[in-house]
Amino acid sequence: MIVSPSLTLCPMKSIANGLSEAKIQALIRKKVFKHHIRCPKCHRRYSQIINHRYWCGKCRLKFSLKSCLVFKGSKLPFTILWRLLECYLTPISISQTVSMCRLSEPTVRRWHRKFAELLPDEQIQLQGLVEADEAFIGRRKYNNQTPVIGALERTSGRIVLKPLTSVESGQTDKFLLEHIDTASLIHTDAASHYQNITDFFSYGHVVCNHSIGYFGPTNRIENTWMRLRSFIRKTVARAWKEHLPRLLKEFMARNNHKEWFTSPINFLTLVPSQLG
Ligand SMILES: [Zn+2]
Repeated sequence: MIVSPSLTLCPMKSIANGLSEAKIQALIRKKVFKHHIRCPKCHRRYSQIINHRYWCGKCRLKFSLKSCLVFKGSKLPFTILWRLLECYLTPISISQTVSMCRLSEPTVRRWHRKFAELLPDEQIQLQGLVEADEAFIGRRKYNNQTPVIGALERTSGRIVLKPLTSVESGQTDKFLLEHIDTASLIHTDAASHYQNITDFFSYGHVVCNHSIGYFGPTNRIENTWMRLRSFIRKTVARAWKEHLPRLLKEFMARNNHKEWFTSPINFLTLVPSQLG
C-alpha cells in the first residue's frame, strides 16, 4: 500500500482532502455509471458480484470497476489514481505529482499521456472576429523549435493551434481555410503570408503593425502564446518536438472545454467516448 505523503504543499483543496478507497469507488458507481455498471466487452449489465469483481452472465467476463475506465489494468489503488488524475487536471507539475503520489517520474508521465490520449481530435471551425498569429515554441539552440500557427475566436475565446513545418503562405492559407469560416474578419500582424487573404479567399482582414508597437486587436492570441509557454513550463518543463502535437491538443482542450478539467468526475463523464 502506498502511503500518502505530506499533502500540505498541494494547492488544490480536494486533493489535500483525499477521499478513501471506498468513497471513490462509490462516487464512480453513482456519478460515472449512474449505478448501471456494464460489461466492458458486451455492454450488458453485470449479473453478479463474485469476490469483489463484477461478473457478466452473457459473456462470462469477470471485471473490475477500473477495467471500465481509463484505469484499466492498473494495480494502483483508487486513492492514488484519483490523486494522479486530480494533479493532471489542476494541472500540477510532473515533479510535484511525483512527490504527492509517491510514484516514479516515468509512471506519472505515462499516466499523464494516458489521460491526454482520451482527449478527442476535434475539427474546430471558428467564425466572426478571429485573431490569427504564429509563434516559435521551443529553443532553437537545442534544435527543438517548431513554428505554431494559432487562431482565437473573440466571442467564445475558443482556439485552434497547429504546428507547421515552416511559416509560409501555403501552410498558413491551408490552416485559415480549414479552421476559419471565409465570412470572418481576421486580425493579424503585418506578416507577408497574410497579405492576400482578402483577394484570394474573401476574408475581412485587419492588419496590426507590431513593428510600430500596435498590438491591440491581436492581444488575446498574443496572450495565448504566453499561456501556452507557461503551461508547457509548469507541466512538462520542456516540450520536445515530437510531443508538441499532443501538448497543443491538450492545451486547446483545456481552453475550449474548461468544464472537462474541473473535477475527476467531470473528466470521466464529459470527455467523449472513454467509457466502455
Ligand atoms: Zn459481457
